[in-house]
Amino acid sequence: MGCQMNVLDSELVAGQLRRAGYEPAVDMASADVVLINTCSVRDHAEKKALSRIGQLKKPKQVNPDLIVGVIGCLAERDPEGLIAKVPHVDLICGPGELHKIPAMIEEVRASRERVIALASSQSRRGSLLERSRQYDSLEALELSREPAPGDRVLQSYIRVQRGCDKFCSFCVVPFTRGPERSRAPQQIVDEARMLVDRGAKEVTLLGQTVNSYLNQQNGRTVRFSDLLERVAAVPGLERLRFVTSYPGDFTEDIFQAMRDLPPVCEYLHLPVQSGSDAVLKRMKRVYTVGRFVELIDRGREMVPGITFASDFIVGFCGETQAEFAETVALIERCRFKNIFVFKYSERPGTVAAKRVPDDIPAEVKRRRNSELLAMQKRISLADHQALIGRTVEVLAEGYSKAATKAQQAEQARGDEVGWRRSDQLVGRTRGDRIVVFTGGPELIGRLVSIRITGATALTLFGDVVQAVAPSAGESLPIVA
Ligand code: SAM
Repeated sequence: MGCQMNVLDSELVAGQLRRAGYEPAVDMASADVVLINTCSVRDHAEKKALSRIGQLKKPKQVNPDLIVGVIGCLAERDPEGLIAKVPHVDLICGPGELHKIPAMIEEVRASRERVIALASSQSRRGSLLERSRQYDSLEALELSREPAPGDRVLQSYIRVQRGCDKFCSFCVVPFTRGPERSRAPQQIVDEARMLVDRGAKEVTLLGQTVNSYLNQQNGRTVRFSDLLERVAAVPGLERLRFVTSYPGDFTEDIFQAMRDLPPVCEYLHLPVQSGSDAVLKRMKRVYTVGRFVELIDRGREMVPGITFASDFIVGFCGETQAEFAETVALIERCRFKNIFVFKYSERPGTVAAKRVPDDIPAEVKRRRNSELLAMQKRISLADHQALIGRTVEVLAEGYSKAATKAQQAEQARGDEVGWRRSDQLVGRTRGDRIVVFTGGPELIGRLVSIRITGATALTLFGDVVQAVAPSAGESLPIVA
């Protein structure tokens, strides 16, 4: 559940368990171990996680040998709450302790007792040396990464930074994922090379504030733009993306890298959270709306075709109608490709929870949320309609949702599952726009030229003009 970091963590844990001799279960009933990787960024995410964990109570009663584990941010944030609310949990492990999971499972099996591993208890007790050892063990988890068949390799994630030091007043992440640490550049480059060798065409570098990446190597400073340059040089890598950037730390050299390094995609996810300086101040976001707008304008000047996405929180403590109107004006001004809007959710332990009341009524939060989404829908639709008739480069990722559903239905009926002429594929442009088009399975994993013929606010539709040559230089026949 949750963010891309969790997707990657789950992949790393699964890899670790495979190496320890486990295999993925075909269904819950045949599983010996079930691990739920949780998110705690909003109350709603925690409730969803608790409900999923609650569903395991019965299977655990039927099979007392079943090991139920909770990993991720909720495990780190509230182990006592978990024990109280879902006492059938055998294993609780925070995101900084995932390398211990195989040993923890064995311990549960041997002792029949609940086993807990949390970074917060370590850092309270542990010396600097212990913490550094702990960090090295986590690194080992990434270094031993070995994707297996069925893993999501075509578009892979690489963590470049752990934790977060920003302590925005609303955010729980620094408490659950610990202090910010940038990984060594060579390890990141080696990981990218390994993933490309195994079939990755696109790599996304992950960090909570990925552009603040900074590493000292042999006395030299490696900035985020330097890292982009090194990863972009990995032979065979078609596309390079990164999320999430922090506006306060964004520097022009990153726009230069986006303009000059062919694999780096012209897409920037830059969460602004609010269009009001007063709200940003209360959120402890260290930039102004003016600076944010300057960044967007500069990006559009320097990087042809760049698209922007952003995150917004509505109903943050004390947000007045006038402050909300400033957010509306910012969205109108910036014309993002898409936005993610969240209703403010008070998080225990954060500065906002301690100092300012969560005083905006749920109904107002809901109304503001819908208003921003409706507004963005109008902007996205107009943007997409302007692309009709244009040809775009798409990385074909797989079957569209509709085609996948139809194939699953065929499978359920026991019919032979095969590709039909009418099947639709889905992929993304360099600017992260979703494109659905008719095409065969041979195109999956390829860059394809698509002429856009239709649009909704969320999706573009088009026809294949040509399968673009992958870097090897070969070209596919025209399909449609
Ligand atoms: N580290 C990134 C940043 O701060 O720019 C994003 C991290 S967070 C996992 C993703 C988004 O969740 C944030 O950008 C914010 O919009 C939203 N979010 C975080 N804490 C929240 C809270 N307490 N209530 C509502 N939304 C929240």
